[in-house]
Amino acid sequence: MALPPLPPGQLPAASPPPATAMSNWRKDHLGASSVEPLPVVIIGNGPSGICLSYLLSGYTPYVKPDVAHPHPLLQRKLTEAPGVSVLDQDLDYLSEGLEGRCQSPVALLFDALLRPDTDFGGNMESVLTWKHQKERAIPHMVLGRNLPGGAWHSIEGSMVTLSQGQWMGLPDLQVKEWMCRRRRGLRNSRATAGDIAHYYRDYVTKKGLGHNFVSGAVVTAVEWGTPESSGSGVRHPGPLFQVSGFLTAEDQSRPPFSLCARNVVLATGTSDSPARLGIPGEALPFVHYELSALEAAVRAGTVSPASDPVLIVGAGLSAADAVLYARHYSIPAIHAFRRPVHDPGLVFNQLPKMLYPEYHKVHQMMREQSILSPSPYEGYRSLPEHQLLLLKEDRQAVFQDPKGLQKVFGVALVLVLIGSHPDLSFLPGAGANLAMDPDQPLSAKRNPIDVDPFTYQSTHQEGLYAVGPLVGDNFVRFVQGGALAVASSLLRKEARQPP
Ligand SMILES: Cc1cc2nc3c(=O)[nH]c(=O)nc-3n(C[C@H](O)[C@H](O)[C@H](O)COP(=O)(O)OP(=O)(O)OC[C@H]3O[C@@H](n4cnc5c(N)ncnc54)[C@H](O)[C@@H]3O)c2cc1C
Repeated sequence: MALPPLPPGQLPAASPPPATAMSNWRKDHLGASSVEPLPVVIIGNGPSGICLSYLLSGYTPYVKPDVAHPHPLLQRKLTEAPGVSVLDQDLDYLSEGLEGRCQSPVALLFDALLRPDTDFGGNMESVLTWKHQKERAIPHMVLGRNLPGGAWHSIEGSMVTLSQGQWMGLPDLQVKEWMCRRRRGLRNSRATAGDIAHYYRDYVTKKGLGHNFVSGAVVTAVEWGTPESSGSGVRHPGPLFQVSGFLTAEDQSRPPFSLCARNVVLATGTSDSPARLGIPGEALPFVHYELSALEAAVRAGTVSPASDPVLIVGAGLSAADAVLYARHYSIPAIHAFRRPVHDPGLVFNQLPKMLYPEYHKVHQMMREQSILSPSPYEGYRSLPEHQLLLLKEDRQAVFQDPKGLQKVFGVALVLVLIGSHPDLSFLPGAGANLAMDPDQPLSAKRNPIDVDPFTYQSTHQEGLYAVGPLVGDNFVRFVQGGALAVASSLLRKEARQPP
């Protein structure tokens, strides 16, 4: 793998960046003299980026010859091309007719191959066997703000996953086995976020992918033009992308980098840019958007069982996690949300009670502990259908109730947990023109990036791909299908490259 030299004025500062991977990267590539662009740059090092790196590193999935898939139609199709890697097969044809908890046909296909009967409560092994065929590897680089594992390094480590632990795994390394080897156990078949973050880091190491990863690399701009000559005089059939940003260094310096690539994969997730309320006082220092702020305040003693309550805004699972956390430490909490408690759209109404008793407990608290009734849950008050209007410097929170009356509460800290938006500010026009509806804001749920369902290439820009929540695949179990589609498309493209 060779990278173009950095243009004059963009050489990184002399101070070494912190991560070992980064040092290796600089040593191996920044001094390279070739001007050939990199085939692929992946922006984002969460489960999507890791899974794609695995597939681009030559790890190739084949269907085991001696097993039958429980889905009869899929089984029949799988037997039609014995010995042909899934990556080289027609993903449109294979995935046709599959149904499940995701809209993407390729996500359903890959999930069905990795976890054949999991939705029927079964525990059948994957029908895939993996061969490491180095000759099929496509040189690539995975850039990420944090350590490999993406959002999982920002989620409070003691939180238990919503998904079953086995659904959090990446190809050919079962979470259960990995946990066993580390003498850790699943809790009610779910894992802690801390274990999962550790698993992803370990996966990169165990599969020998580390040299592709640059941790602490923040991309600030991706630009592209029409097909043009590279410095080597070789004409490239597609557009060339310029990916620039900075490395985070221990000494707080920010050495810049700039890479040239033939393909760019957006795997940046949607957790980096928390949704805001847009009310006066939101910028005050006691207003936060991550549960970790509550943890830090508990540790520092700025909130305690004797302090003013913590105000938790939101009615999703992150807000529920915050309620549980506050309850665990006996911290008084006011929980405000705009919807009525019986709204069928509330996430709690979509979770089976048996599997998620803790979230149903929170829902019960939300229902029973309205501000007007006496409390069975000491220290907790719920404010359904309340709108936060204003936060004052003296830590007064002003609400409007469903009848239009104003109420004021003194609070120690405010946690706004009302979701997050994708942050594609590094793209021209912040990527707005890539969305399904370019006139509406980009949103994982309502308006994802528009991609071809079988290649995950943008329908608007050749060579630009997107995976994960950015395209509406919101669970780790399903982001992997996007990686399969991208790898399959890139392998076809590479096969067409002139020698
Ligand atoms: C609180 C919480 C609980 C969840 N629970 C579950 C669960 O139980 N089960 C489940 O399946 N899913 C769960 N999810 C969703 C899951 O986290 C995502 O589906 C998954 O992490 C998506 O993977 P990804 O690789 O696409 O993106 P991410 O994991 O979000 O990783 C993307 C990475 O890219 C980095 N990045 C972004 N912009 C840049 C840039 N400009 N330069 C460099 N790096 C950048 C980000 O910092 C991030 O680290 C949960 C999410 C949250 C927030």
